[in-house]
Amino acid sequence: MKAIVIGAGISGLTCANYLQRSGIHTLILEQAATPGGVSTSWKRKGYTFEGGIHWLIGAKESIPLHNIWVETGALQENNPVYFKDPIYTLVDSEGRMPLYRDLHGLELTGLRDRLALATLKFHLACFNGFHQPITDISGVKARYPRPFSLWEYIKMGGAAALSPFLMMQSARGYARRFRNPRIRELLAAVVEPSINALSLIYTLSTFAMGDSGYPKGGSLQMARNMAGHFLGLGGEIRYRTPALEVLREGGKWTVRTADTLFSADAVVISMDARSAIDKLFKMPLQEIWAQKMRRSLRTTQCMFLGAGIRTDLSAWPRSMQLVLPQPLRASGHIYKTLVVNNYADVKSYAPEGCSVVTCLLHGPTYAWWKAAKEDGTYATRKQEIMEAFLDALGEMIPDIRGKVEVTDMATPLTYERYCSTFEGSYMSDWPPFQPLYHAPYKYKEGLYFTGQRTAYSGGLPPAAQSGRITAQYVCKDLDTEFVAY
Ligand SMILES: Cc1cc2nc3c(=O)[nH]c(=O)nc-3n(C[C@H](O)[C@H](O)[C@H](O)COP(=O)(O)OP(=O)(O)OC[C@H]3O[C@@H](n4cnc5c(N)ncnc54)[C@H](O)[C@@H]3O)c2cc1C
Repeated sequence: MKAIVIGAGISGLTCANYLQRSGIHTLILEQAATPGGVSTSWKRKGYTFEGGIHWLIGAKESIPLHNIWVETGALQENNPVYFKDPIYTLVDSEGRMPLYRDLHGLELTGLRDRLALATLKFHLACFNGFHQPITDISGVKARYPRPFSLWEYIKMGGAAALSPFLMMQSARGYARRFRNPRIRELLAAVVEPSINALSLIYTLSTFAMGDSGYPKGGSLQMARNMAGHFLGLGGEIRYRTPALEVLREGGKWTVRTADTLFSADAVVISMDARSAIDKLFKMPLQEIWAQKMRRSLRTTQCMFLGAGIRTDLSAWPRSMQLVLPQPLRASGHIYKTLVVNNYADVKSYAPEGCSVVTCLLHGPTYAWWKAAKEDGTYATRKQEIMEAFLDALGEMIPDIRGKVEVTDMATPLTYERYCSTFEGSYMSDWPPFQPLYHAPYKYKEGLYFTGQRTAYSGGLPPAAQSGRITAQYVCKDLDTEFVAY
């Protein structure tokens, strides 16, 4: 029996690891030259730019998701998880204010702030222990079953009861409970402020529980670990091999690449399903879920900016929310603050005495960049934005001026080009008041989806969890025992 997985992102690697472990010989076709998809890091002139994981949920051993990271080889000794505290630090003209995991030390300006903090602590207490349950799908034969446990859900009842209320407001709206604008800005650093407040509280709770950390080998090391684990089990990966079409041939699902037709008992599409429904089939898919997905999906887009600097920034916080004296204007957006990650503590990321900083500028800029590409100004615009970013950074951290050795920048067009994500987005957005429509895990007999567009909401946990679920669907259909270890 044979399976083909299209894409070696985190969901594809997860799915392929479980399939191969279960005895289904699996081939991954990946269009890029490296594994990881959008969860990646890369080197430039001796500096490593982390372009993926900012925090990895499932770092804590007692959380079920942790098993997936271990079973797929993601977390190993070469990738020890580091838990930052403070989580973020506000830096503005008044000085610094850290956001610690237990929320101590916030500068409260009156009764309203004290009430807001008490509410936030209560909400985090409700979410203490909240996690994505990892269970088996109905009918699968699992060697080490993880049956549905009512008790597991009951223990998370407080969080479940609170979730609808949090889903109806944005993270920014939630932060407005505080009167002190500095606390509002600090909370705005945690998740993209326009997404719902459930994401904010869930994320803060994972930090509070010690479940969110940064694997110090970085995103590429984690993906390489997963790919290495899969190859060690006897699986096959073909890099630089884009799947061009999925079709039915001789009673089997078949994948067409530039020079070969691969057919298999099961084909799993782990590339962005929103792109796949329009690009991978002769006729774009027209099922109701596909149409709803086209209508409802709001993509999360960002620009990535990184700089390697010939100075030691270890006196500066790990993750900073910089409040700029002058806003930064970039690709039709105005940024009054910058969330900057400083990797001075990861010694292998920069030459001795040097540091790397990265920053994500969020916002829907795909159309803006597309227009720049078409009118031939793409490279100039990138350069202008990088210069404006470095000027803004230099205002806040004067020590970097004149010491920038290397820079790199990605736009939504970069993500689209390298990973074929829809409009260059890197996860599904989940705005307040809106349902999300997904691709089904099992589309047709022998044809499956997995990845960020099959699960609520974006990020690595749904990518991994969906990979495991899809592998179970395949095992069930091929009447094969699902093996995790
Ligand atoms: C800058 C940034 C920061 C992030 N920070 C975090 C974070 O801190 N925590 C967190 O949980 N998540 C974070 N994420 C999100 C997370 O990385 C993604 O949601 C997740 O990696 C998506 O995985 P995936 O496998 O579903 O999709 P992808 O990563 O998109 O994987 C799909 C794979 O399919 C390949 N592919 C596409 N088309 C084809 C084709 N036709 N043929 C062959 N191969 C194909 C692609 O090259 C890719 O390798 C971040 C993402 C980015 C970009």
